[in-house]
Amino acid sequence: TAYYNNYDEQVCLPQRQLKMNPPRTKAKAAFVILVRNKEQEDIAETIVNLEDKFNKNFRYPYVFLNNEPFTEEFKHAMQRASPGADMQFGLVPVQHWGYPSFVNQSYAKDCRDQMEADQVFYGGMESYHHMCRYQSGFFFRHPLLDKYDYYWRVEPGVKFFCDITYDPFLYMQKYGKKYGFVVTLLELRDTIPTLWETVLQYARSRHINVDKPGQLFPYFRDESTGDYNLCHFWSNFEIASLDLWRSPQYRDFFNYLDSTGKFFYERWGDAPVHSIAAGLFLDTNEIHYFEDIGYQHDLYRHCPSKESGLGCRCECPEGTTKDSIDHDQNWDTCLPRWRQWVKKSEADRK
Ligand code: GDP
Ligand code: MN
Repeated sequence: TAYYNNYDEQVCLPQRQLKMNPPRTKAKAAFVILVRNKEQEDIAETIVNLEDKFNKNFRYPYVFLNNEPFTEEFKHAMQRASPGADMQFGLVPVQHWGYPSFVNQSYAKDCRDQMEADQVFYGGMESYHHMCRYQSGFFFRHPLLDKYDYYWRVEPGVKFFCDITYDPFLYMQKYGKKYGFVVTLLELRDTIPTLWETVLQYARSRHINVDKPGQLFPYFRDESTGDYNLCHFWSNFEIASLDLWRSPQYRDFFNYLDSTGKFFYERWGDAPVHSIAAGLFLDTNEIHYFEDIGYQHDLYRHCPSKESGLGCRCECPEGTTKDSIDHDQNWDTCLPRWRQWVKKSEADRK
């Protein structure tokens, strides 16, 4: 019947029906969760929620990653959160977490102190720098991910509000999408003072034309100044192709960025790094806005609007509440720009 192998985002099947006829075909895909032992409770809650809204019907495996060994208690708590789910617990290899030899660690410390004094968000927190570098350049090299083509990044404490009764991975595969997001917003400029100029230098040195027809790159550029407009995709939610990051081009790009040491001397986030790389290497039509997925990370929430007709049995808070904000209406959303950009690139293709 029609709902096998489902990749149609418009579909909203009754849970009962999915349960009786679970999807038979799956993508080679997994949830990827970088997490600390002490975040056990929050990630357990997220898994219960994600299973309920989606994965109890689709049964994708979980890959947990940590720079320290997971405790037995943590592993048991995860299995309790979703009994029967396929779960792998991986240790991040030391070469992927820690200072590369070319980084001056005492200078990095001075930079952190300065960022702390300047109140750069997370700038003074050493582990955060390592995390951002890991998520930028290494997670996709973890051997536990070798057998997968796509991943869905999940973080402790995030919430899903709608039933997802189709398979987002199969959607990506079917339509040739390489990167999917739910929130697009402005980055904090003082975390990445020289990222953009480094990217432009890189593009020049590799003779990359950043203005090929269809290319995503100009979405990130302020046309009046040529500078970064600070828009990016929020990387705490990502459904994306692993091959995108495994590609020689992306590794070369990451190595170039990494060689500046500015994951440590500044506080380059994996979100702008992933986004701008997608800009360099992907076309706009390879990006998918998962507008139908109701989602919250920290205070920011996206829920499908009534007008869109998207979303399946969403249980979303509305407007601003004491613990969440409708980010699509927030001052720092890039969604209007994104919509315009997509319209323009679709018109250009015709
Ligand atoms: P935020 O979303 O930018 O506020 O940062 P988070 O604290 O949520 O960190 C982003 C992701 O990396 C989350 O999944 C965290 O669990 C994970 N993470 C952050 N720092 C570390 C760390 O030092 N070790 C491990 N294993 N995970 C970390
Ligand atoms: Mn987070």
